[in-house]
Amino acid sequence: MRYNQLEINKKISESLKGSGNKPVKKECPFCKSVFEVNWRKRDQTFCSRSCNITSRNLDSKLNEKHRLNISIGVSNSYRRGKKVYGVYLSGMIIMV
Ligand SMILES: [Zn+2]
Repeated sequence: MRYNQLEINKKISESLKGSGNKPVKKECPFCKSVFEVNWRKRDQTFCSRSCNITSRNLDSKLNEKHRLNISIGVSNSYRRGKKVYGVYLSGMIIMV
């Protein structure tokens, strides 16, 4: 009896946590640490936001000129007194 109840509780808690799928183990291509992501985030590549951003920074020599242009644009707006909010995404600054 008691065993059954425990099994049921376990099943319920698994289904609440994400369709009973187990967390996925991945290796961060940047810092090489092994991390777990839950099933719904299994497409995640890096262990953390900072690894993601840092790796993109190091990997974006090709984009450098482009990024520089954006940075100049943002800086100019800022100097003209415009409030500037930028989000760093996919190797460039996206204005929001
Ligand atoms: Zn990492």
